[in-house]
Amino acid sequence: MSETYYIGLGKNDSNLRKKADSDFASFWNEQAKKLTWFSPWHQTLEWKYPFAKWFVGGKINASYNALDVHQKTRANKPAILWEGENRESRIITYGEMFTQVQKLSNVLKSLGVQKGDRVTIYLPMIPELPIAMLACARIGAIHTVVFSGFSSTSIRDRIMDSKSKIIITADGGYRRGNVVKLKEVIDDAIKDCDFIQHVIVVERAKNAITMNSTDKLWSDLMKDVPDSCYAERLDSTHPLYILYTSGTTGKPKGVLHGTGGYLTHLHSTFKWAFDIKDSDIFFCTADIGWVTGHSYVVYAPLLHGATQVIYEGAPDYPDASRMWSILQKHHVTIFYTTPTALRMFMKFGDDIPNSFDLSSLRLLGTVGEPINPEVWKWYFKTIGKEKCPIIDTWWQTETGGMIISPLPGLETIRLKPGSGTRPIPGVDVAVVDDIGNIVPPNTKGYLVIKNPWPGMLLTLWNDDAKYSSVYWSKYKNFYYSGDYALKDDDGYFWLLGRADDVLKVAGHRIGTAELESCIVSHKDVAEAAACGIPDDVKGEVIIAFVVLKHGIIKDVNILENEIVDKIRSNIGAIATPKQIYFVSKLPKTRSGKIMRRLLKSIGNNEQIGDVTTLEDGTAVTEVKAAFDEIQKSIRDKSK
Ligand code: ATP
Ligand code: MG
Repeated sequence: MSETYYIGLGKNDSNLRKKADSDFASFWNEQAKKLTWFSPWHQTLEWKYPFAKWFVGGKINASYNALDVHQKTRANKPAILWEGENRESRIITYGEMFTQVQKLSNVLKSLGVQKGDRVTIYLPMIPELPIAMLACARIGAIHTVVFSGFSSTSIRDRIMDSKSKIIITADGGYRRGNVVKLKEVIDDAIKDCDFIQHVIVVERAKNAITMNSTDKLWSDLMKDVPDSCYAERLDSTHPLYILYTSGTTGKPKGVLHGTGGYLTHLHSTFKWAFDIKDSDIFFCTADIGWVTGHSYVVYAPLLHGATQVIYEGAPDYPDASRMWSILQKHHVTIFYTTPTALRMFMKFGDDIPNSFDLSSLRLLGTVGEPINPEVWKWYFKTIGKEKCPIIDTWWQTETGGMIISPLPGLETIRLKPGSGTRPIPGVDVAVVDDIGNIVPPNTKGYLVIKNPWPGMLLTLWNDDAKYSSVYWSKYKNFYYSGDYALKDDDGYFWLLGRADDVLKVAGHRIGTAELESCIVSHKDVAEAAACGIPDDVKGEVIIAFVVLKHGIIKDVNILENEIVDKIRSNIGAIATPKQIYFVSKLPKTRSGKIMRRLLKSIGNNEQIGDVTTLEDGTAVTEVKAAFDEIQKSIRDKSK
């Protein structure tokens, strides 16, 4: 864990951290002034535990800060370099975005959308998606984007919860060369939702659709509508959006974010973490349907007037070189992706990225899951050619923006593969035990946030009670993140996986991330997932599921022994899995995270619960089949 890798880019301004540490509210007060406000706030923070209001009394508009402010200087600068999966491409300038957004705002108004109304957006990764979000923000409507890979049941649940009157969707979207018929999914989802007044349909894939009485084509609506629409002067605490979490641990929660605090958090972190410059070409691979897409595809880059690449399709379609060819084509300078995508790229081998010119890259980032040190090093060497710092950014839908991350745009810091390093200035993070005492360095515990921060969620939609109980009841006055972590001697944070997933073996607590990273450090392993299952003797035993790299043909008994040796020498015999199962893929959420609770159910022979957020149903079947097969061979052996 002590391996030292890289020095960041920034010049240290110890004053800034000092200011933040001595008075976090006045520190954020200064940062908020970097945005454009219609009128100033009279109170920086109103903290009525557990509800925080930032910049109270201030008037602001997200769409104004994303677009209007750039019109004098950047109207002809590309905001979006869009790559369709089918190799279509589009360039949308700040000027064009501005016009489109204002027109759509007028359309929404003409359809009766008012401040505070919810608008559900179910669109593929096309420019109309950020345009729709900004059009809502402009008039104070609350957008609720639902990831376009969801089924009609999932979308129906979310529409029922948010009670949107309007839905914006597309005829279809491309995924791995196929057309996903989004409009059909919506038709099915809203069959009995009589509160829906209009469905606006973008024609993306030009597949045949049925137009019902509520339906209107985007292109028709946008034809003759005026192209200027003023931005509402909204309270800083006005809700900007509802976004449902990815559902790794259970049923998704409807996280509600405000405006002024959220934008301040994004504006600051985008500058500090990505060191953004006007000349950069930024590329974040997250789908806008997840919080990373909301914060670091839509709002943060636009606040800074940055140019970014948006890619519509699957990262490995039509082949494993797609990402690298996009990076090369657009001379991407900053690349932000997920450990799960990196593990996939790594599985395909080095020859593919090595055959592209990636020399424009200067900074790399990762988010979404703990990154295995082995994968970090691969990213650093093979993609960054040992010259790009990697920012491992820890945050959640609930936090709105980054909480723990190296900040090369702000300061110089040594990186350690697998650690998010330190919290951002103005946010106080700690690792505590079960009763809330801060644990000594190098001791595992629960990650908490000790003070309110600007990007903090307002509440859970329509459910203040659940908000209080999920995040603020385990500890008095600390925000409970639900993640397991440790802080090392240098004050660096290591995220060790979900607290619910912690492996408890014979009184020891082992983070899933620690064990999985150890397994992934075996040269033939691409991915691993560990979980605990009950055991009569030991209380709980560990089982592990392992995916090998492409083209590995090796005796599984030899592999198993090698992996076990690695675990014994790196972590200790205590962490030895009772069984290792070799499978071809792992069950993942739609946002690409390993769903350990599902593996646990399979390991326990239980009914598999809510799988509506699962990426690929066959992965569950496959894991279960692999498990059944091995169970059988164990039984056969012991006969
Ligand atoms: P749900 O809350 O419904 O189970 P989710 O937690 O997967 O879904 P998100 O808010 O998208 O939904 O994900 C946040 C979580 O992702 C964090 O709590 C953490 O477990 C994990 N995570 C994000 N970034 C990192 C990172 N850099 N290192 C380690 N873990 C990370
Ligand atoms: Mg979560």
